[in-house]
Amino acid sequence: MNDDTTSTTTLGDLVVYVEGGVADVAVPLGQASLNVADLAVTRGDGVFESIGVIDGRFIELDRHLARLAHSAAMLDLPVPDLAAFEAAARRGLAAHRPEPELLVKLLYSRGIEGADEASGWIQVLTGPDHSGHRRDGIRAVTLDRGYRHDIAQTSPWLLQGAKTLSYALNKAALREAERRGADDVIFVSTDDIVLEGPTSNVLVRHGDRFRTPRTDLGILAGTTQAAVFDTLDAMGFDTAEAVISSAELASADAIWLLSSGRLIAPVRELDGAPLAVDAEFTATLLQKTFGLGPA
Ligand code: PLP
Repeated sequence: MNDDTTSTTTLGDLVVYVEGGVADVAVPLGQASLNVADLAVTRGDGVFESIGVIDGRFIELDRHLARLAHSAAMLDLPVPDLAAFEAAARRGLAAHRPEPELLVKLLYSRGIEGADEASGWIQVLTGPDHSGHRRDGIRAVTLDRGYRHDIAQTSPWLLQGAKTLSYALNKAALREAERRGADDVIFVSTDDIVLEGPTSNVLVRHGDRFRTPRTDLGILAGTTQAAVFDTLDAMGFDTAEAVISSAELASADAIWLLSSGRLIAPVRELDGAPLAVDAEFTATLLQKTFGLGPA
């Protein structure tokens, strides 16, 4: 790393570039630059991961690295150097000012147009404060994703299930939720199957049964969901990936949205209908899964 920029551990948000597969520079975010011809910028042609860090510990690092490789394979990108990404992530985190919670993004693009060399970099940042949503819950609306549930099989070129850099649609859906007076979205297929949120997986509870949509439904395999299932299994609950209809969603005893930054957010209102929030149970899951104490 460059001593000028990383001689202190009080840096704020910063990026570490991974050039030629080796992380060698850490610079504050305001001084970072990216080639304007990089296909990440011009086409959104790349993949990424967003990893939660709590008290300096990476959450589900191995699952994130594996998913980066999986997404890259879906886009026919060169195999990413995961060891270099991990080293960059660790060095970036070490260079950042410590915070109770941070996010580390791994970004991997097809590189500069015509150069035939992938480019990658990481970014360490302080995410928004999610404590209110974790405790009090969020308002969600269901939105039609415009796809059938079997899109991953029928049309793999649509890249459903890869974590690509093209998030404009996901952001548009979140703005639509806001227009409808909600905080977040649960996408439903045209044939009425529950899919995922624009940045989250869905967890549905009926009694002691916990279900999440199957990953062959054209959705991202969630690292947070996998970690939460490990906890629920250890607690003796009945967990499974399933095909969940909108009617089953509407009749749920409880629903949560799961994602790396926000971790576990109970849904307190679905399409305008109030839903019970068991704050104590959510707090238990947050503690057992991520070692997160009360806000
Ligand atoms: N689904 C989508 C579309 C996402 O973008 C994300 C995360 O950003 C998730 C699910 C949740 O994945 P994870 O828990 O690994 O963050």
